[in-house]
Amino acid sequence: MTKDRKLIIAGNWKMNKTVAEAVDLVTTLKRDLADVKEVDMVVCPPFTALCEVSKIILDSNIRLGAQNMNEHPNGAHTGEISAQMLKEFSVRYVILGHSERRADQGETDELIARKAQAAHAAALKPIVCIGETLEQREANETEAVLETQLRGSLAGLTAEQMTETILAYEPVWAIGTGRTATPEQAQEAHRFIRSVLAQMFDDTVARRVRIQYGGSVKPDNARDLMSQPDVDGALVGGASLEARSFTAIIRNSI
Ligand code: PEP
Repeated sequence: MTKDRKLIIAGNWKMNKTVAEAVDLVTTLKRDLADVKEVDMVVCPPFTALCEVSKIILDSNIRLGAQNMNEHPNGAHTGEISAQMLKEFSVRYVILGHSERRADQGETDELIARKAQAAHAAALKPIVCIGETLEQREANETEAVLETQLRGSLAGLTAEQMTETILAYEPVWAIGTGRTATPEQAQEAHRFIRSVLAQMFDDTVARRVRIQYGGSVKPDNARDLMSQPDVDGALVGGASLEARSFTAIIRNSI
């Protein structure tokens, strides 16, 4: 595939896997994906498994991501995890603003922007999630929603930081539902996102930023989605919980 942005495929394990299960899964991934160079591969286990998973992938081509972090460097924030704490486990990426957190924890664009700035300050690469609900799509509000989320969640980032930020376009109606955006719908949204980045930053930044698609990505739809010109990878939920399906998604994307 000739794309000048390297594909990045990340598995978001969400609130799944005990430490023993996480170790099993990542050990198999490490073995089965050892030859892959064409794709940046990331696993995002729950916090409790970061330490053990980190040890296993230390000498591999798989990188470690977290599913969230707090925007403050330290202090009285019970139950929270800072960027520096993640870095102790060699975490390189952090998912921010997943639609489940926007819905369950009431995360706002403004909070996500502060987290993204804190991530960059600690040299972590944020994976910033955006996406419209079904109601918004049906009301023809998709582009307006995406633009608001982009302008809000990326506020305050420099061009250099933006280039090191990954975006994940995840239509809420496609997450965990088995209902995937068509490759054309994904491409249309990704092209629009890139056009907003060009306005917010410049053409060079817009050309460089990698935009993942997320929402019921499976082995049998990965190839068509990844071959779209503005789709630069995937954020995978359910299908990242089994080595066989995550490996097949990666192999089918190359
Ligand atoms: C996700 O939660 O980021 C996701 C895309 O989930 P799924 O692949 O299960 O739809």
